[in-house]
Amino acid sequence: MTSKQKVKLPRKSKIVVLSAPSGTGKTTIVNELKKKFDNIAVSISYTTRQPRQGETDGIDYYFIDEEQFKKKIEQGFFAEWARVYDYYYGTSKSFIEENLKKNKVVLLTIDTQGALQIKKKYPKAVLIGILPPSIKEQENRLKKRGETPENIRKRLKASSIERKILMEKYDYRLINRDLEKTIKRIISIIEK
Ligand code: 5GP
Repeated sequence: MTSKQKVKLPRKSKIVVLSAPSGTGKTTIVNELKKKFDNIAVSISYTTRQPRQGETDGIDYYFIDEEQFKKKIEQGFFAEWARVYDYYYGTSKSFIEENLKKNKVVLLTIDTQGALQIKKKYPKAVLIGILPPSIKEQENRLKKRGETPENIRKRLKASSIERKILMEKYDYRLINRDLEKTIKRIISIIEK
Protein backbone atom coordinates (compact mmCIF):
# COMPACT_ATOMS: atom_id res chain seq x y z
CA MET A 1 0.00 0.00 0.00
CA THR A 2 1.44 3.40 -0.92
CA SER A 3 0.53 6.78 0.54
CA LYS A 4 -1.23 7.65 -2.75
CA GLN A 5 -3.82 4.99 -2.05
CA LYS A 6 -4.70 6.37 1.36
CA VAL A 7 -8.40 6.66 1.97
CA LYS A 8 -10.49 8.71 4.32
CA LEU A 9 -12.48 6.82 6.91
CA PRO A 10 -16.15 7.63 7.35
CA ARG A 11 -16.76 10.26 10.00
CA LYS A 12 -18.94 8.15 12.18
CA SER A 13 -16.04 5.86 13.11
CA LYS A 14 -14.62 7.39 16.22
CA ILE A 15 -12.53 5.54 18.74
CA VAL A 16 -11.15 2.16 17.81
CA VAL A 17 -9.47 0.14 20.53
CA LEU A 18 -7.18 -2.72 19.55
CA SER A 19 -6.15 -5.13 22.25
CA ALA A 20 -3.69 -7.78 21.35
CA PRO A 21 -1.91 -9.87 23.94
CA SER A 22 1.90 -9.65 23.61
CA GLY A 23 3.22 -11.54 20.62
CA THR A 24 0.10 -11.23 18.48
CA GLY A 25 1.49 -8.98 15.75
CA LYS A 26 0.01 -5.73 17.03
CA THR A 27 2.79 -3.42 15.88
CA THR A 28 2.63 -4.65 12.29
CA ILE A 29 -1.15 -4.25 12.25
CA VAL A 30 -0.96 -0.65 13.48
CA ASN A 31 1.74 0.25 10.96
CA GLU A 32 -0.39 -1.10 8.12
CA LEU A 33 -3.44 0.87 9.31
CA LYS A 34 -1.34 4.05 9.48
CA LYS A 35 -0.18 3.46 5.92
CA LYS A 36 -3.70 2.92 4.64
CA PHE A 37 -5.64 5.73 6.27
CA ASP A 38 -4.80 9.40 6.37
CA ASN A 39 -7.36 10.45 8.96
CA ILE A 40 -6.33 8.00 11.62
CA ALA A 41 -4.66 9.29 14.76
CA VAL A 42 -2.67 6.66 16.60
CA SER A 43 -2.29 7.41 20.27
CA ILE A 44 1.16 7.17 21.79
CA SER A 45 0.84 5.85 25.32
CA TYR A 46 2.75 6.91 28.40
CA THR A 47 4.55 4.16 30.26
CA THR A 48 6.91 3.66 33.17
CA ARG A 49 8.64 0.68 31.57
CA GLN A 50 12.10 1.01 30.07
CA PRO A 51 12.41 1.33 26.28
CA ARG A 52 13.23 -1.93 24.49
CA GLN A 53 15.98 -2.02 21.95
CA GLY A 54 14.90 -0.03 18.90
CA GLU A 55 12.15 1.87 20.71
CA THR A 56 12.19 5.66 20.67
CA ASP A 57 10.71 8.09 23.17
CA GLY A 58 7.83 9.99 21.60
CA ILE A 59 7.39 7.44 18.81
CA ASP A 60 6.73 4.10 20.47
CA TYR A 61 5.81 5.46 23.88
CA TYR A 62 6.43 8.45 26.07
CA PHE A 63 8.75 6.92 28.64
CA ILE A 64 8.30 8.58 32.03
CA ASP A 65 9.10 7.59 35.60
CA GLU A 66 6.64 6.44 38.21
CA GLU A 67 6.57 9.77 40.01
CA GLN A 68 5.70 11.62 36.79
CA PHE A 69 3.06 9.03 35.97
CA LYS A 70 1.38 9.30 39.36
CA LYS A 71 1.34 13.08 39.08
CA LYS A 72 -0.45 12.78 35.75
CA ILE A 73 -3.03 10.45 37.32
CA GLU A 74 -3.70 13.07 40.00
CA GLN A 75 -3.99 15.80 37.38
CA GLY A 76 -6.62 13.80 35.50
CA PHE A 77 -4.36 13.69 32.47
CA PHE A 78 -5.34 10.16 31.42
CA ALA A 79 -8.51 8.98 29.69
CA GLU A 80 -7.57 5.57 31.02
CA TRP A 81 -4.60 4.04 32.74
CA ALA A 82 -3.68 0.62 34.05
CA ARG A 83 -0.92 -1.35 35.65
CA VAL A 84 0.13 -4.01 33.18
CA TYR A 85 2.77 -6.52 34.30
CA ASP A 86 4.96 -4.38 36.59
CA TYR A 87 4.49 -1.06 34.88
CA TYR A 88 1.98 1.70 34.40
CA TYR A 89 0.50 2.54 31.00
CA GLY A 90 -1.90 5.35 30.14
CA THR A 91 -3.59 7.25 27.32
CA SER A 92 -3.72 11.03 27.12
CA LYS A 93 -7.26 12.37 27.39
CA SER A 94 -6.43 15.54 25.44
CA PHE A 95 -5.01 13.47 22.55
CA ILE A 96 -8.35 11.69 22.22
CA GLU A 97 -10.46 14.83 22.60
CA GLU A 98 -8.43 16.93 20.17
CA ASN A 99 -8.46 14.28 17.47
CA LEU A 100 -12.17 13.59 17.84
CA LYS A 101 -12.74 17.32 17.33
CA LYS A 102 -10.72 17.09 14.11
CA ASN A 103 -12.98 14.19 13.00
CA LYS A 104 -10.13 11.75 13.11
CA VAL A 105 -10.47 8.10 13.90
CA VAL A 106 -8.58 7.62 17.13
CA LEU A 107 -6.77 4.32 17.39
CA LEU A 108 -5.70 3.07 20.80
CA THR A 109 -3.68 -0.11 21.27
CA ILE A 110 -4.15 -0.81 24.93
CA ASP A 111 -4.83 -3.70 27.27
CA THR A 112 -8.23 -4.97 28.30
CA GLN A 113 -8.37 -3.01 31.58
CA GLY A 114 -7.86 0.23 29.67
CA ALA A 115 -10.26 -0.80 26.90
CA LEU A 116 -13.10 -1.28 29.36
CA GLN A 117 -12.43 2.15 30.88
CA ILE A 118 -12.60 3.70 27.41
CA LYS A 119 -15.86 1.91 26.59
CA LYS A 120 -17.38 3.27 29.79
CA LYS A 121 -16.32 6.86 28.97
CA TYR A 122 -16.97 6.63 25.24
CA PRO A 123 -19.71 4.02 24.72
CA LYS A 124 -19.45 4.27 20.93
CA ALA A 125 -15.82 3.11 20.99
CA VAL A 126 -15.35 -0.11 19.04
CA LEU A 127 -13.34 -2.73 20.87
CA ILE A 128 -11.42 -5.20 18.72
CA GLY A 129 -9.49 -8.05 20.28
CA ILE A 130 -6.76 -9.88 18.38
CA LEU A 131 -5.96 -13.39 19.48
CA PRO A 132 -2.94 -15.50 18.57
CA PRO A 133 -3.75 -18.72 16.66
CA SER A 134 -2.32 -20.76 19.53
CA ILE A 135 -0.45 -20.33 22.76
CA LYS A 136 2.55 -22.12 21.24
CA GLU A 137 2.67 -19.64 18.37
CA GLN A 138 2.42 -16.73 20.81
CA GLU A 139 5.26 -18.17 22.88
CA ASN A 140 7.41 -18.48 19.75
CA ARG A 141 6.80 -14.87 18.82
CA LEU A 142 7.76 -13.72 22.31
CA LYS A 143 10.94 -15.80 22.15
CA LYS A 144 11.81 -14.30 18.78
CA ARG A 145 11.37 -10.85 20.27
CA GLY A 146 14.02 -11.75 22.84
CA GLU A 147 11.82 -11.69 25.96
CA THR A 148 13.30 -13.46 29.01
CA PRO A 149 11.72 -16.80 30.10
CA GLU A 150 10.34 -15.06 33.20
CA ASN A 151 8.72 -12.34 31.07
CA ILE A 152 7.32 -14.91 28.65
CA ARG A 153 5.76 -16.82 31.55
CA LYS A 154 4.21 -13.62 32.96
CA ARG A 155 2.88 -12.51 29.59
CA LEU A 156 1.34 -15.88 28.76
CA LYS A 157 -0.38 -15.95 32.14
CA ALA A 158 -1.73 -12.43 31.67
CA SER A 159 -2.89 -13.37 28.17
CA SER A 160 -5.16 -16.08 29.42
CA ILE A 161 -6.98 -13.53 31.62
CA GLU A 162 -7.07 -11.06 28.75
CA ARG A 163 -8.49 -13.71 26.43
CA LYS A 164 -11.44 -14.23 28.76
CA ILE A 165 -12.23 -10.50 28.79
CA LEU A 166 -11.88 -10.30 25.00
CA MET A 167 -14.33 -13.15 24.61
CA GLU A 168 -16.90 -11.68 26.97
CA LYS A 169 -16.74 -7.92 26.54
CA TYR A 170 -15.32 -7.00 23.15
CA ASP A 171 -17.32 -6.03 20.07
CA TYR A 172 -15.09 -8.09 17.74
CA ARG A 173 -12.57 -10.89 18.22
CA LEU A 174 -10.17 -11.88 15.49
CA ILE A 175 -7.74 -14.74 15.41
CA ASN A 176 -4.56 -13.61 13.75
CA ARG A 177 -3.77 -16.64 11.57
CA ASP A 178 -2.86 -14.62 8.55
CA LEU A 179 -1.71 -11.05 9.06
CA GLU A 180 -2.97 -9.76 5.69
CA LYS A 181 -6.43 -11.17 6.32
CA THR A 182 -6.53 -9.84 9.87
CA ILE A 183 -5.64 -6.36 8.66
CA LYS A 184 -8.33 -6.52 5.95
CA ARG A 185 -10.89 -7.59 8.52
CA ILE A 186 -9.94 -4.74 10.86
CA ILE A 187 -10.21 -2.27 8.00
CA SER A 188 -13.70 -3.54 7.16
CA ILE A 189 -14.75 -3.19 10.80
CA ILE A 190 -13.37 0.38 10.97
CA GLU A 191 -15.07 1.31 7.71
CA LYS A 192 -18.49 0.07 8.86
P1 5GP B 1 4.34 -3.61 25.89
O1 5GP B 1 5.09 -3.30 27.15
O2 5GP B 1 4.56 -5.02 25.41
O3 5GP B 1 4.55 -2.57 24.81
O4 5GP B 1 2.79 -3.51 26.25
C1 5GP B 1 2.28 -4.29 27.29
C2 5GP B 1 0.78 -4.16 27.33
O5 5GP B 1 0.40 -2.83 27.69
C3 5GP B 1 0.09 -4.43 25.99
O6 5GP B 1 -1.05 -5.24 26.23
C4 5GP B 1 -0.32 -3.07 25.53
O7 5GP B 1 -1.46 -3.11 24.70
C5 5GP B 1 -0.63 -2.40 26.84
N1 5GP B 1 -0.65 -0.94 26.73
C6 5GP B 1 0.14 -0.15 25.96
N2 5GP B 1 -0.19 1.13 26.12
C7 5GP B 1 -1.23 1.16 26.98
C8 5GP B 1 -2.05 2.21 27.52
O8 5GP B 1 -1.89 3.39 27.24
N3 5GP B 1 -3.02 1.84 28.38
C9 5GP B 1 -3.25 0.53 28.73
N4 5GP B 1 -4.24 0.29 29.57
N5 5GP B 1 -2.52 -0.46 28.24
C10 5GP B 1 -1.52 -0.16 27.38
